[in-house]
Amino acid sequence: MPEPLHKGERIFRGIPVSVGVCRGKILVLGRAQHAITKCPLSDSELPEEVNRLERALVQTRHDILDVQHRVGEAMGAAEGSIFDAHLLVLEDRTLIDEVVRIINGEKVNAEYAFHQVAERYASTLAAIEDDYLRERAGDMRDVTGRVLNNLLGQQGGPDVRNLKEPCIIIRHDLTPSNTAQMDRSKVLGFATDIGSKTSHTAIMARSLRIPAVVGLKNASEEMESGQYALLDGFNGIVIINPTDQTLFEYGQLIRKQVTLEEKLRDIISKPAVTLDGHRVLLSANIEQAADTQAVLESGAEGVGLFRTEYLYISRDHLPSEEEQYQAYRQVVTALKPHSVLIRTFDLGGDKFLSHLQVPTEMNPFLGWRAIRFCLQERDIFRNQLRAILRASAEGNVKMMYPMISGLDELNQANALVEEYKAELRKEGVPFDENMEIGAMIEIPSAVMIADALAKRVKFFSIGTNDLIQYSLAVDRMNEKIAHLYEPTHPAILRLIKATVEAARRNNIWVGVCGEMAGEPVLTALLLGLGVNELSAAPPLVPQVKFMVRRLKATETVALAEFALGCESGSEILARCQDLARQSAPSLFEDKG
Ligand code: PEP
Ligand code: MG
Repeated sequence: MPEPLHKGERIFRGIPVSVGVCRGKILVLGRAQHAITKCPLSDSELPEEVNRLERALVQTRHDILDVQHRVGEAMGAAEGSIFDAHLLVLEDRTLIDEVVRIINGEKVNAEYAFHQVAERYASTLAAIEDDYLRERAGDMRDVTGRVLNNLLGQQGGPDVRNLKEPCIIIRHDLTPSNTAQMDRSKVLGFATDIGSKTSHTAIMARSLRIPAVVGLKNASEEMESGQYALLDGFNGIVIINPTDQTLFEYGQLIRKQVTLEEKLRDIISKPAVTLDGHRVLLSANIEQAADTQAVLESGAEGVGLFRTEYLYISRDHLPSEEEQYQAYRQVVTALKPHSVLIRTFDLGGDKFLSHLQVPTEMNPFLGWRAIRFCLQERDIFRNQLRAILRASAEGNVKMMYPMISGLDELNQANALVEEYKAELRKEGVPFDENMEIGAMIEIPSAVMIADALAKRVKFFSIGTNDLIQYSLAVDRMNEKIAHLYEPTHPAILRLIKATVEAARRNNIWVGVCGEMAGEPVLTALLLGLGVNELSAAPPLVPQVKFMVRRLKATETVALAEFALGCESGSEILARCQDLARQSAPSLFEDKG
């Protein structure tokens, strides 16, 4: 039960993932199953209503066969055959004839009639003392949901591109591609029931500067489109029907935030150097070519992670080499002489192009993702590597591979780069012969063999989002276990330290480009562990720089030493918070 803050309002708490406060009407998306109303029809409308039902049944059959095919490919025919029971429901003439009888007899819409009959069948099955029959009730409800979705025409994802008026989007879940398509002028903010801080949807929200809250559990079911709401992306709160008192209090918070932003603006052109003269390289993470302006305005020295998959995630065709070259060139020339670190496609996990025929996987984050996908899909990889190499002739380009888990992958990828370099040389196409190539360190196995990897690359970039997920076995998307997703876990700090030491032994540099790098509370810890570069979303760069300029390198080393000898993640976090609050109190006192 959501608690009221002031009388008449309802407050829902989740996980804050993208800062900012917004208010406006909410639009609840994706609630087909709750929108079944009884609509009386005239005699002349009835034949078309029956046709509509038949079309929805055919479409549903088609959908189920498609899912069955994907599951069969991914997991084998036996698993795929579980959908046979679903197909049988659609072929049950007794059920369908009864639905048609209700449409014609009661002169009502197909959704209502179908729901009535299917729900009666399902409840009868569910009440029988027989496990097999009870399972059939589940099948019946599953199929009913699909048929109703098709009748209501809501089988596609939410259309967030064509919103009529500015609103706050509420949905059970949003994929990264849904988020990438959001029209910033119409989406004031968004909130979802599931997700966590390092899900790609959250990362996208920060990149688009859309205030967002995730992990609201089942809040979307308790909200209605059209209600007025306030969304607080600092504290992870959505307030429905905020009272005047609440709006007043938030007005103050927004004013304090503006003051802080003005203060941060002052240091944008200043260097990222600690009080005792230690220089830190601060870069920005980008997802789109259009983000270059945000990078320049943030005071970052170039790009430390270009998530290239987002360039194409919301498109319906594969990018050609030329299209990619143009996109990379645009970023590289705009940021020259700063460097742009282009990461090769990290498709898979929660990010797939809708037009790629990729089988559904049981564990997509452990599946056909990133370098594993690229090494098999050679044409896609070749286009990208050639485009990056060509762009390297236009400025300061670096490149890295995501999800390296072993030496073979790195060797294979490096060999392909050499092959495409030879092609370009032969064609007389210019590229930077000395373009630095690095490996992302985001899988524990990569840390364990970091010395071997380091001999074959010029740098490491630690992807803490995945490193934490894979080391602690905590799904980075799952709000139910978000409390276990602990960046200051002693194991994580030791993995970072081991990576830094291997890099030093082999004379290469190390950056951090996961969300840890954008968290000012953790800046001292990462610097103390010895990383050379921090790369964060552009809106977070000024805060991190502010923090760097308030710290002494000596105290960061002392903090890291304490952390490496400490057994408790929460104790380490408390120490980090103490140092951060002491060093830069103004960064923290204005968060409400
Ligand atoms: C990471 O895993 O930390 C990272 C930067 O990559 P992504 O968030 O895109 O998986
Ligand atoms: Mg990653």
